[in-house]
Amino acid sequence: MDTINGESPPANVFEESARSLPIVDTCDVVVCGGGPAGFSAAITAARQGARVRLFEVNGCLGGVWTSGLLTYVFDADKPGITKELTTRLEEREAIIHNRQFPGRFTYEPEEMKVLLEELAIQSGVEVQLHTLIVAVYKDRNNKVDTLVTESKSGRQAWRAHAIIDATGDGDVGALAGCEFEIGERTECPCQPMTLNALVVAEDADALYPYTSFMGGDGAHRGKPVREFLRVLKEAELDVSYSEPTLFQVRGTLFTLMINHEYAIEPWDAAKVSNATIRARAEIYRVARGLRKLGGPWKGLQIASSGEHIGIRDGRRIKGRYFMTKEDIASGSSHPDGIAKVTFNVDIHAPTRELNDVNSTIRTGIKVKPYDIPLRALIARDVDGLMMAGRCISGDYIAHSSYRVTGNATAMGEAAGLTSAMAAQRNQLPHQLDSREVLHVLNQIRGGIVSL
Ligand SMILES: Cc1cc2nc3c(=O)[nH]c(=O)nc-3n(C[C@H](O)[C@H](O)[C@H](O)COP(=O)(O)OP(=O)(O)OC[C@H]3O[C@@H](n4cnc5c(N)ncnc54)[C@H](O)[C@@H]3O)c2cc1C
Repeated sequence: MDTINGESPPANVFEESARSLPIVDTCDVVVCGGGPAGFSAAITAARQGARVRLFEVNGCLGGVWTSGLLTYVFDADKPGITKELTTRLEEREAIIHNRQFPGRFTYEPEEMKVLLEELAIQSGVEVQLHTLIVAVYKDRNNKVDTLVTESKSGRQAWRAHAIIDATGDGDVGALAGCEFEIGERTECPCQPMTLNALVVAEDADALYPYTSFMGGDGAHRGKPVREFLRVLKEAELDVSYSEPTLFQVRGTLFTLMINHEYAIEPWDAAKVSNATIRARAEIYRVARGLRKLGGPWKGLQIASSGEHIGIRDGRRIKGRYFMTKEDIASGSSHPDGIAKVTFNVDIHAPTRELNDVNSTIRTGIKVKPYDIPLRALIARDVDGLMMAGRCISGDYIAHSSYRVTGNATAMGEAAGLTSAMAAQRNQLPHQLDSREVLHVLNQIRGGIVSL
């Protein structure tokens, strides 16, 4: 039996021995997580001339855009990388703009995958997929400086001047010991998770009455959702999300969003696994049931289901500014505002019982366009760490508005630029003059880099 200082550990504890790890590289900026926020952070920092590494645990870049098969972008009517991605997707005929709401569009996720990879490589980002961040270390001055990853290459250490937590779930901030919130109060229940799927219809036009967004027409969401729910109920096909939604991605390819998985903490791998398996079974049960109905559903095929279930709520790491519901209701502006948010409050019911009454929670809060301040992206409790995407510093209600991917992209851009500037000047992100950061941010948002 193993012993600690000559004594046996408790029966339910295994003491792992300490080991030395290779420091594989020291670079300017390490970005943790390659979703909309992390991808944008990495390419922005690299385009500024920083040496950048990006670690992503899934097998592709894009996070919820790709491994989550989201396929719908909100709040993307912005200059910079959102504009650049929009233009690139247009060139690939892989986008359908919402005619009623500028800055909202569907996209084809396989095209998105390869586009993000091309842009990352062209920008000089060193991308490592299938790699999980598992530990974070600080120096004597409370500055994060070392990350540990695990992958098929084993356990490896990496050093960086600045680190960006774009894991969505705030893994890096939590590992560094930062205070965080999750869910409505300081802990879950959080919003439900959803596994999306792509389906192919035999006759796209026949699905029009049930499709919330088709051919660029996004104005008529309520009626198709009700019609789709009626069909499902009549066929006795129970769905765990009471606003089952179909939207067109390209031609006969549609996204199917029909499930909610309630009260799952994103850091509990066993619960997330069970939720994923349940959700996938629900998708297949419903798709088979619809196919049997024939008519508009004849020949309906599942093309793909998400590799990763979509997570709405993770940790929100405390930063040097904490965004609140008052900020979003009053339309607060800040001299260090890095993005303007226009998206509404969108809180999915945290329990099946509430969902069956109403799929979203009514707060009565009407969003006035408001700023995300750069300080909400800079960790408060440690130095050298920035956040981007849904793990930035804000309360439950503010998060439900700013978290959408057009904003995550803009946050990534700002975090990538700030981290690169900090590395190049041998300063910490919070020590930079935010007016100068904003000046450069506005400059780089002015143009599209050619491939
Ligand atoms: C079901 C659903 C529907 C939504 N609907 C919309 C919508 O219609 N439009 C919209 O714009 N937004 C929508 N959102 C919100 C939006 O998807 C998220 O808030 C957005 O993904 C935030 O981007 P992100 O980059 O912060 O996080 P993510 O997309 O979650 O990316 C985080 C990345 O980090 C990786 N990662 C996590 N932990 C680690 C680790 N320890 N080590 C290495 N890598 C790690 C993950 O694999 C992932 O790729 C929806 C979200 C969900 C879940």
